[in-house]
Amino acid sequence: MDGGAHKRDPRYDILFEPVQIGPVTAPNRFYSVPHATGHSPLMPNGSIGMREMKAEGGWGVISMQVAEIDPTSDISNLPMERFWDDTDIKSHALMVERVKKHGAITAVELAHTGIRARNMDTGTPVLGPSSMRILKPQNPIQSKAMDKEDIKAFRDSHRRAVYRSKEAGYDIVYVYAAHDAALVWHFLNPMYNQRADEYGGSFENRLRLLHEVLEDTMEAVAGDAAVAVRIPAHDFKSGSPLTYDNEARAVIESLAEIPDLWDVNVASWPRDSGTSRFDDEGHQEKYTSYVKQVTTKPVVGVGRYTSADAMVSLVKKGVFDLIGASRPSIADPFLPNKIKEGRIDDIRECIGCNVCVSSDAYSVPLMCTQNPTISQEWRRGWHPEIIPQAPQKEKTLIIGSGPAGLECALTLARAGHEVTVAERASEFGGRVSKESGLKGLSAWGRVKDYRLYQLQQMGNVSLYAESEIDANDVADFEADNIVVATGAKWRNDGVGATRFSPIEGFVENAVTPDDVMAGAEFDGPIVIYDDDHYYMGNVLAGHLAARGHEIHLVCPLPSIAEWMGYTLESPRVLDEMVELGVQMYPNTTVGRWTGTALEVARSDTGQIMPAISGKHLITVGARRPQDSLLAELTRLPGLGDHVTGIGDCLAPGIIQAAVFSGHAQARRLIGHEPENGIYKRETPVLFDR
Ligand code: ADP
Ligand code: SF4
Repeated sequence: MDGGAHKRDPRYDILFEPVQIGPVTAPNRFYSVPHATGHSPLMPNGSIGMREMKAEGGWGVISMQVAEIDPTSDISNLPMERFWDDTDIKSHALMVERVKKHGAITAVELAHTGIRARNMDTGTPVLGPSSMRILKPQNPIQSKAMDKEDIKAFRDSHRRAVYRSKEAGYDIVYVYAAHDAALVWHFLNPMYNQRADEYGGSFENRLRLLHEVLEDTMEAVAGDAAVAVRIPAHDFKSGSPLTYDNEARAVIESLAEIPDLWDVNVASWPRDSGTSRFDDEGHQEKYTSYVKQVTTKPVVGVGRYTSADAMVSLVKKGVFDLIGASRPSIADPFLPNKIKEGRIDDIRECIGCNVCVSSDAYSVPLMCTQNPTISQEWRRGWHPEIIPQAPQKEKTLIIGSGPAGLECALTLARAGHEVTVAERASEFGGRVSKESGLKGLSAWGRVKDYRLYQLQQMGNVSLYAESEIDANDVADFEADNIVVATGAKWRNDGVGATRFSPIEGFVENAVTPDDVMAGAEFDGPIVIYDDDHYYMGNVLAGHLAARGHEIHLVCPLPSIAEWMGYTLESPRVLDEMVELGVQMYPNTTVGRWTGTALEVARSDTGQIMPAISGKHLITVGARRPQDSLLAELTRLPGLGDHVTGIGDCLAPGIIQAAVFSGHAQARRLIGHEPENGIYKRETPVLFDR
């Protein structure tokens, strides 16, 4: 927050130029695009708090996520916004007011999600261009083919939502056509649009509805707000003609000068929100860079940009006028101000893991691996940059420097504690240091890099590597607080998510991910048993296959890496496994390891299947908390009350959970968490009847 001590490099000045968008002006080029927040309309205070923080952090445009325009666009159970009628204006208006106080402007993404809606809350038929199953094959729901009355009703409804948006004070009103999740996009795509009337068939006919809604919106705003179209400049869906070299380009060319802003990305959402494992920063540029060549209107686009140099280059090359971001703005709501103040090294860069995205499917407030304060702005009063000062300058010893230990250390150091971090290994970072050496996971290292760099700049922090701590050391240290962050180790006995007792032949023979990361050698076919269902099993498979090993990947659930459906990575994981020649055995339960083969059966029917031969066995299942030091210290008279555990040594989990645990414990130690653990909650209105 110290603007005086740093000076911005003049080459970044271009990022702070205002940009005219129709009748409104964005104060700079940092544009927080619409993104899922996990806050349903029942959590307006939380979502306002999150957006206000981004405005405080310098984002020039702050967007609302998908806002359903009416009951026919009901996309519950996903926690999107609702803008059905005038009763919804109040909370939108409050968000607009709070954001504008910081000098930002606001945008609302008015949406009808067509055959991605489910209408399970409202019970009305799902609407689409044709009668077909909705774009959620697991759901036994089919759409109604919209007749002319339905089309008219939709256009009227969209127009009314535009009026409400103006009343709420929004500066930019969207026509939403993105993510394979918009009614107007469904009309564009002949895979979904099988109509024989003037809204189907030829390109011009399929374009008609988007064109009409866009004109309706322009007319309804009447110059009081800008109009943006959010649309994929390229669709990755197999068979779709809406590609960057075909109809997607034709759509943008046809409507080029009508809206005030083009907000472009790629479809569908898994490709738009590509993770760092599969997509580098700027991965969409190849598909979106043509847009500025076909329109004179400003263009905003995304690509997980965290590098100020990359942003400058995009503007200079004429790719985008505004730098769109969702994940980089979640990981660091203060990214623009840090660039503005010349504090590039202080940026908490998104690692591209998509844990944030998983919040949407779970319908819980946004979580982030890098930013533990996201979604906690209102409910807990957590600020990502300002930590309340501790009442006393206490001395705190932190044992272990994984994500939990480093985050706890940084938060306490910022609060004014005298912090010492002791790490047994020669390198700081715990699991993220090791995992970032695996294929595709190098960005994981940012979790360590950001925290370590910050800690190294502080005078009240001592960092000791190669310093294994035992109970005697702790007693000698005379700390006011001892925080144990000693992590967890992978089990080698086959115990995992679906299996709670050891598997015969495993303990004697199986190696674990820890062994692989420590450099275990293999000289024959490897069987990987994955009863973890997140990234580790398939990352190891890819890592070792890329080194020329024959890999057999076995997992008890119906599909490989089931949890990666939540991070949108499943299809990319499967592509990678196929490309690297990994043999996959989903829906496969293990009997025992014979020493040369894994005896298996189908998980669902129990039918015995041919054994899977291999020379080596890797098991990826549950982890054992490394909590013996914690237990010993807690028992020591006079010391136990000052000892707490955090992160994986308490409950092994994902990296995000370890960071959160370290942050929350630091806040507890400085008295910034309620003693009963109950934070502010959104309160429903109760009616007499
Ligand atoms: P988390 O995810 O909870 O932060 P990690 O497993 O990433 O946990 O990190 C735990 C770290 O603690 C590892 O780097 C490990 O070397 C370190 N560690 C474990 N036991 C000790 C100890 N007795 N003294 C110092 N460091 C320790
Ligand atoms: Fe980035 Fe991961 Fe945070 Fe999402 S959860 S914003 S991908 S660091």
